[in-house]
Amino acid sequence: MKVMKFGGTSVGSPERMKNVASLVTASGKPTFVVLSAMSGTTNSLVEVSDYLYKKNPEGANEVINQLEKKYMQHVGELLATDEWQAKTREFLAEEFNFLRSFTKDLFTSFEEKTIVAQGEVISTRMMVNYLQEQGVKAVLLDALDFMRTDKNSEPDLSFIREHLSHLMEAHSGQQIYITQGFICRNAYGEIDNLQRGGSDYTASLIGAALPAEEIQIWTDIDGMHNNDPRVVEKTEAVRQLNFEEAAELAYFGAKILHPTCVQPAKYAGIPVRLKNTMDPQAEGTLIDNEIEHGRIKAIAAKDNITAIKIKSSRMLLATGFLRKVFEIFESYQTPIDMIATSEVGVSMSIDNDSHVGEIVDELKKYGTVSVDADMCIVCVVGDLDWNNVGFETWALDAMKSIPVRMISYGGSNYNISFLIRKEDKQRALQSLSDVLFEHEHK
Ligand code: ADP
Ligand code: ASP
Ligand code: MG
Repeated sequence: MKVMKFGGTSVGSPERMKNVASLVTASGKPTFVVLSAMSGTTNSLVEVSDYLYKKNPEGANEVINQLEKKYMQHVGELLATDEWQAKTREFLAEEFNFLRSFTKDLFTSFEEKTIVAQGEVISTRMMVNYLQEQGVKAVLLDALDFMRTDKNSEPDLSFIREHLSHLMEAHSGQQIYITQGFICRNAYGEIDNLQRGGSDYTASLIGAALPAEEIQIWTDIDGMHNNDPRVVEKTEAVRQLNFEEAAELAYFGAKILHPTCVQPAKYAGIPVRLKNTMDPQAEGTLIDNEIEHGRIKAIAAKDNITAIKIKSSRMLLATGFLRKVFEIFESYQTPIDMIATSEVGVSMSIDNDSHVGEIVDELKKYGTVSVDADMCIVCVVGDLDWNNVGFETWALDAMKSIPVRMISYGGSNYNISFLIRKEDKQRALQSLSDVLFEHEHK
């Protein structure tokens, strides 16, 4: 069985939903479908929660009313018969009354998570109603019945596998199995989610649990491009990526894939295919175990990075110094992205700056500390095994007019990363594309 995941834009209007219906039924084979909320809906639900945190129920109600109006209009465009239209309107009315019920009580992160989950609850119900109206054998499996995280907020794969397989058995003989991306329950049974953009993760976890023959991520672009298409002109789709390369690109900012999505597929050995809903014939990108030797595949950039440097001529050579430094970051649950050391100092970069103040205070026990905010990591990904000569030189050559704060190479066989100022990002990405992909075209 294949898993097909469709993002917000792909289900962003009744017309797009119909298009998704024809894509998932085209093979005639049983297929597992994961849907995001219609584009913009999760943002609106976050806005509702913001108003409720600020004790402004009128603001929340206004957003809810606008959403309800939009969804009620969609019903007439999506469904043809009075019967299915009435059923769907009734479901939506209940949903929006449920959302309004939160404007009356105490508001905590528990209520917030319940609210932001409703986008996927609504999109999947609309899709299954449409498919059933069309006579397709389709069933909606509620992600809250099988998608679970453990006490460390990591997906509980054995729970997912067991409960999903029971549900599939109970509904055998269906053509389309639909579920909500993004949403789950935590170890205490409360509604939770897999972080913004996390529907990709849902698809990959389901693919690994089934196990599926392929996990397809359908979005609004024809696969992973060789640079960020929002920043650089004339980027091109990459046909194939190794799991490691895809993971590096996703982690370092290629928004097309959620950073956590690659891991479950990789461990289960299931290929991931990135496809374009607007152009289903386009080849897209295949992510699997193959490695194309001696090729740079793509460049990505991650924003909002903070660099922290600690200088200590006294301490650095002493054993245990780095351990003490790392323990400080660990105690504030702040992962380190890049690291560079010298005889007298160590520089690190982090993307979660919520505890920078405390971390810096504690680091001051061990040396002189300086901080650079508003930085950006630019990451070149491909077969960068150290035996392949030339690539580092080309990458460095492309960066020759850009001030570089840190460089990281050799941590994996797949990347070379540069830490630069945010304002130099566009220039750096463009220059890397010009230099690295020009070599390729020669
Ligand atoms: P979805 O809502 O389907 O999950 P996303 O908006 O999360 O879609 O991801 C698709 C977007 O990712 C594209 O529209 C594109 O602008 C952006 N993107 C960023 N970097 C890349 C890249 N290297 N290749 C392709 N798309 C990228
Ligand atoms: N709807 C969620 C979001 O907007 C999850 C997703 O689309 O992947 O973040
Ligand atoms: Mg996405």
